[in-house]
Amino acid sequence: MIISVASGKGGTGKTLVATSLALSLKDAGPVALLDCDVEEPNAHILLKPEIAGREPVNMPVPVVDLDRCTYCGECARVCAYNAIAVLGKHVLTFPQLCHGCGACSYLCPEKAISEEPRQTGIVEWGDAHGVRLVHGILTVGEAMAPPVIRKVKERTGDRPGGIVIRDVPPGTSCPVVEAVQGSDFCLLVTEPTPFGLNDLALAVETVRELRIPCGVVLNRAGIGDAGVEEYCLQERIPVLLTIPLHMEIARLYSRGITLVEGMPYWKERFQRLFDRIKEIVHEGSRSLKR
Ligand code: SF4
Ligand code: SF4
Repeated sequence: MIISVASGKGGTGKTLVATSLALSLKDAGPVALLDCDVEEPNAHILLKPEIAGREPVNMPVPVVDLDRCTYCGECARVCAYNAIAVLGKHVLTFPQLCHGCGACSYLCPEKAISEEPRQTGIVEWGDAHGVRLVHGILTVGEAMAPPVIRKVKERTGDRPGGIVIRDVPPGTSCPVVEAVQGSDFCLLVTEPTPFGLNDLALAVETVRELRIPCGVVLNRAGIGDAGVEEYCLQERIPVLLTIPLHMEIARLYSRGITLVEGMPYWKERFQRLFDRIKEIVHEGSRSLKR
């Protein structure tokens, strides 16, 4: 079972939910928490794993052999990302724009382009409280998060029948799509304010396009208005968990303590949340078979 925990914007409590969900389920089977927010991973601050391994994430970028190049311009024409340009007797490459698709080297008529790896980030993993944590770190100044996220997703380890929880980057752009793709369910964490509602509606659009069933966690309940609940009712999206605005919860988070460690009675609530998700996923697969 793969559950993504996403939100339309940062700071809604996504990591608070993802870490506590992971810790609450570790008795139900092997659990892996993948922190796919590679621009700013922070699940490790709460889980404090001992890092057991790391590997670089490399992207193949073109290198042009000017002795073979005839400056025909074909490579620049096929590059959809403007990462290579031919100006007179010069070929310029822009590695930070390159998506590593290989089209230029494949289509160069003179076979003048080879590829060399360029590191864009790293992936690290380790265990904490019986949970496998994997996170990616995008190199500062790099723009291409998806390849690092893909590597994080590959690193779940051999855990047949296990539970995988993905902490998704905020927003609704390519890194979000990459992180959520392939999930069985997506939990959308939001807060009951007009901003929360606006970002939730955008996130719902994204997961619906990906045809992934979703449900809402309402965080900091007690502030704002009833707009999010009304929207969920209207869109038939279940509100699966409500976390109140509570000074003690904020205090725990700011000290790097997960909700279920600081307030153990939350464990049962997260377990019930998981049971509801299983029911929804099961119901969805049954109706697909009908
Ligand atoms: S396609 Fe090959 S030969 Fe043509 S300009 Fe590019 S590198 Fe040079
Ligand atoms: S590998 Fe792809 S993205 Fe990179 S320069 Fe070549 S065509 Fe462009």
